[in-house]
Amino acid sequence: MMRLEINGWASKITFSATHIIPAHSKCGRLHGHDYAINAIIEGDIGPDGVIMDFISVKEFLRSVAGELDHRVLIPGRDLGVKVGKEYIEYVVGDKKLTLPTCDCIILDIEVTSAETLANFVLKRMLEKVKFPKNVRRIEIGVDEGRGQGAWTGKDF
Ligand SMILES: [Zn+2]
Repeated sequence: MMRLEINGWASKITFSATHIIPAHSKCGRLHGHDYAINAIIEGDIGPDGVIMDFISVKEFLRSVAGELDHRVLIPGRDLGVKVGKEYIEYVVGDKKLTLPTCDCIILDIEVTSAETLANFVLKRMLEKVKFPKNVRRIEIGVDEGRGQGAWTGKDF
């Protein structure tokens, strides 16, 4: 087994975004991070001497980072979120945020943690990127700032 690593910081697969984590003392206030998306692909070397051409993976990850960049990340599955054409109302504890819909991205997750963002990117990658048969495992890591991130993976 061999391992390909894509470092999001070095490969500029990064984005800046705002979020809020309900019921969390410090992260319960609206704040931002510089994020990076990392990937690991494990598998056997194919007849062409590589596990896979990872340019398609990088392009995919960059497109996801582009979608999230300079947006407020909204957890679409949070029952406190009401999406309107012009404004999103988001009830967080005893606060109500009103945000312009055009500045937000609504994600199919319950909370916008690094963990759920990693799951979101992995799920999307499995839908969009074709992996050759010799690939045995893929992992996605989302860093919230340098040096701290959450990883998820899938075995084939
Ligand atoms: Zn945060």
